[in-house]
Amino acid sequence: MNQLQTTPLLDQVAIVTGAGRGIGEAIARYLVEAGAKVAVVSRSEANSSKVAAALEAIRPGSAKPYAVDVADFDAVQKVGEQIIADFGRADILVNNAGITRDTLAMRMSSEDWDAVLDTNLKGSFNFIRAVLRTMVKQRSGRIINISSVSGLMGLAGQTNYAASKAGLIGLTKSLAKEVASRGITVNVVAPGFIETDMTAVLNDEIRKGALSQIPLSRFGQPEEIASTVAFLSGPGASYITGQVLAVDGGMSM
Ligand code: NAD
Repeated sequence: MNQLQTTPLLDQVAIVTGAGRGIGEAIARYLVEAGAKVAVVSRSEANSSKVAAALEAIRPGSAKPYAVDVADFDAVQKVGEQIIADFGRADILVNNAGITRDTLAMRMSSEDWDAVLDTNLKGSFNFIRAVLRTMVKQRSGRIINISSVSGLMGLAGQTNYAASKAGLIGLTKSLAKEVASRGITVNVVAPGFIETDMTAVLNDEIRKGALSQIPLSRFGQPEEIASTVAFLSGPGASYITGQVLAVDGGMSM
């Protein structure tokens, strides 16, 4: 294989939020393996530094760690400026940071609602604001927002989470229309149940119930989301925008 095929993202600069573990860590690794340089963004400095060090071991100069709460608009603008100053550009943004605070709507606190919406939905907007001007100037960019099967189908106990993830789909389609003429694509990846810390807390009953709804009869792996994000970031996806790609073993079909 020639170099273009093995490293389709050679020298592209990617920002991955929530990259300190789980799906985000797998996405960061895939993008580095495809040739990109990655800003590893996590809430905790310890996690982003650990992941960035592991990526640097794959290819020196491929990663730098950043710590920020994505829900904090001003702090995100500062980190965005720092990333663009450090790397000189921003080609790919993956809004992956996310949390759950599951409970029935009848019992849900205002804090549980706000925390999930502020992190999952506003956090994505905050990073979009931080990089969009640079992408518009470059007249190119890829933005990939990580939604969820919950935002497509709704899941009991997740009114806050499903609202945040469905909101990301509306945000994506509107933004895709705003920036298409600038050479920027905006898409959603909607994972189903994936084996990470987020799903490790589910009890046996919920896991069994979920499995019974998944045609492929298993939970997915973080790498199966990462490979989809790498595809949407690469030259093979240049004519795809405003789309929702469900990677869920068939659960939402
Ligand atoms: P995870 O809990 O393992 O990792 C989430 C990451 O986001 C962590 O690194 C965490 O520190 C970071 N994060 C959370 N809040 C943050 C904040 N305010 N600021 C900065 N970083 C923050 O979860 P995961 O399973 O890897 O999920 C990644 C994404 O995929 C999330 O958006 C999640 O909603 C989505 N998703 C996951 C599944 C699944 O089954 N695991 C299914 C559908 C969608």
